[in-house]
Amino acid sequence: MGAGSVGAQEGRGTTRRVRVRVPAKINPFLSVRGRRADGYHDVVTVLQTVSLHDELEVLAPVTDAAAHPSTRRDVLLALEVLDGAAAPDPDLGPVGTVPVGPMGGLAGEDNLAVRAARALLDELAIPGGAFASDLGGRPDAVTRLRLTKRIPIAAGMAGGSADAAAALVALDRVWGAELGRDRLQALAARLGADVPFCVVGGTALATGTGTVTTQVLAGGRFHWVVGIDEAPLSTAEVYAARDELGPSDDVGPDRVLRALRAGDVDLLGDALHNDLEVAALQLRPALVEGREALLAAGAVAAIVSGSGPTLLGLARDADDAHAIAARLTSGFARVEVVHSPAGGPELLASS
Ligand code: ATP
Repeated sequence: MGAGSVGAQEGRGTTRRVRVRVPAKINPFLSVRGRRADGYHDVVTVLQTVSLHDELEVLAPVTDAAAHPSTRRDVLLALEVLDGAAAPDPDLGPVGTVPVGPMGGLAGEDNLAVRAARALLDELAIPGGAFASDLGGRPDAVTRLRLTKRIPIAAGMAGGSADAAAALVALDRVWGAELGRDRLQALAARLGADVPFCVVGGTALATGTGTVTTQVLAGGRFHWVVGIDEAPLSTAEVYAARDELGPSDDVGPDRVLRALRAGDVDLLGDALHNDLEVAALQLRPALVEGREALLAAGAVAAIVSGSGPTLLGLARDADDAHAIAARLTSGFARVEVVHSPAGGPELLASS
């Protein structure tokens, strides 16, 4: 995790402000090992972060910087969600417009960033957690979350999980908790299967429901063309469709791990594996054409990202990725060029 200057003012009656940039993930390897009695699935997966980020800015009142977090009273939470897809560079403003359409539905208390904030309040035994839709009442008690979304929603890139991780990292700092990575990851596991990975980022092998993660070596940088579909695909529906298909092949992650370690594009292209792909293609047949379009445009290999519907085209290098993206004239609502791995949540200096 890269730590930068927090740029916060501390003291009675002042505000702390933290900005965290958090990356999306891809799964170069995803094997579904069966459905458990509790409805979750056991998986073996290799995850890497990619250079497509959401950004979370947190503003929290500090009434007494020296006070232990648990002595603070009644924290209220507020959330604003902005569409950042229009802003090409995360460090460049303006950050976009107040969203309409599907993103509007993210501005409520079900947002994973808010759920993460509540989980952290709980862990720290800080009272509060009520959602303040109207900031007029007690602005001095409100911790404000301002989320700029660039990671596509319900698209197999763990955007919600990334935002939950961003909230944990930012609020851990802003509330002066300093829980440390292990406790944050344990908390993250209660929020979702991908959240523990998103707290750390980089390259990892994950087992169990995906919450048990081990960092693994990645010797090179890989370049991808990301083909983003307009309509989301529900992760639960994709898993259900996968269950209908019966047990999947018993493939292990070794070749993918070797390719990542060696930085070998051809080996990685050959080894990419996603047990959810066939189910995603079944639910969204147009993805077959999207995958073919990526290959026809020059991708070394193309695969569905996680539960889809995002498609990933593996490129030889950054120039190749841009050339492939330029050749994709139709078929996707949005195309991004990214690299992997991309580190973990990064604390940015704030103004
Ligand atoms: P995964 O790859 O972990 O399965 P995903 O990329 O397919 O996730 P997300 O973007 O994380 O999907 O969204 C999954 C669901 O979570 C959406 O239906 C959305 O309504 C909800 N959600 C809650 N909070 C967020 C958030 N901050 N960003 C995106 N989606 C969120």
